[in-house]
Amino acid sequence: MSLSLERSKLATVTDAVIVGAGPIGLFQVFELGLLGLRAEVIDSLPQIGGQCIELYPDKPIYDIPAIPLCTAKELIERLAEQIRPFNAGLHLGQEVTEVVPRPDRRFDVVTSRGLRFDAGAVIVAGGVGSFQPRRLGLEGAERHEGTSIHYRVKDAAQLCDRDLVILGGGDSALDWTLELVEKARSVVLVHRRAEFRAAPAAVQRMLHLREEGRLDHIEGQVQSLVIEDERVRGVRVLARDGVTRTVSLDHLLVFWGLHPKLGPIADWGLELHRRTIRVDTARFQTSVPGIFAVGDINDYPGKKKLILSGFHEAALAAFGVREHLAPGEKVHLQYTTTSPLLQRRLGVSGAAPQSQEDSRARAGGPG
Ligand code: FAD
Repeated sequence: MSLSLERSKLATVTDAVIVGAGPIGLFQVFELGLLGLRAEVIDSLPQIGGQCIELYPDKPIYDIPAIPLCTAKELIERLAEQIRPFNAGLHLGQEVTEVVPRPDRRFDVVTSRGLRFDAGAVIVAGGVGSFQPRRLGLEGAERHEGTSIHYRVKDAAQLCDRDLVILGGGDSALDWTLELVEKARSVVLVHRRAEFRAAPAAVQRMLHLREEGRLDHIEGQVQSLVIEDERVRGVRVLARDGVTRTVSLDHLLVFWGLHPKLGPIADWGLELHRRTIRVDTARFQTSVPGIFAVGDINDYPGKKKLILSGFHEAALAAFGVREHLAPGEKVHLQYTTTSPLLQRRLGVSGAAPQSQEDSRARAGGPG
């Protein structure tokens, strides 16, 4: 069996792999879809939306054209709806670890969960990198990750009727405290400061529950783990009053936020500049032909890390991908308003007659 046949049996064959499902990665699906190109999207987070969902879902955004006000979550919901017609493959909770150019101008792409893609082009929409939880860093902690120490709740059922200690003072820590207090045997929230970064309503509710004796709250810092018989039995917390208290537990939930790491993107042979990828401004192509970069991850003269800028970059990158896949082929710029072809791709009715499309379509783009 030839090598390429063997490869194509294992891998999903696609026009483009998009690394990152933030707002720009999502809109990239749309721009590729209009040009008739299919995409597979991969993100290390368990949900789409990138920074918008991970860092500020309920905060208002005022500078998206024609949307005077929406929350970050609403923006992602609208983007998800807009790209639905293109039916892109979505692969969450896994990092793209390898991107290897091939002699036939295509790419072998591999994820941390072993998924493989045979892609005509790769578009890196990796934002500030893949988000990783801030870890405990205490002796012995690593061995118990996923069993008694958790950085995200995968299965809330396993926490029912258990003694829980929750670390953190942001939205995730407070949201989970309020949700789990109903299910757990006991909940102790440990935060190093008296002030919380979480939504005021959540903080008020937590303080109210504490007054009622439904949960405990310690202002202090975790010093060490109590490990007995190969199990984490508790934590030692140095409280604000200078006293070290030992709190017993079945599960320790750590919500100290996420920090971005450029991660494997740094190893793909792309020209980098201070943790960003250099691109041209005609196609947003990187130093490797066929690999493009859009959104917060790229760098060019005058770059502004705005969602608006990323949307523009995604439009031009789509034409760049098309040119990479079919060099020299003429591509007409068409309007969604009047092009029956684009309307068919969008799955909408009311397509204008062909002649109207032809008269209004402007010749442009590459070719
Ligand atoms: P991101 O949103 O960062 O998404 C990138 C995704 O790529 C992430 O989900 C990450 O997990 C994934 N990823 C990275 N590497 C890999 C890998 N190897 N494998 C798999 N997945 C990977 N902008 C505005 O225009 N207006 C505003 O009002 C505004 N307000 C903001 C408020 C706050 C608090 C913050 C933090 C930012 C704000 N921004 C605003 C900036 C805006 O959120 C970013 O410009 C935007 O999110 C960039 O989108 P992106 O898709 O490029 O990257």
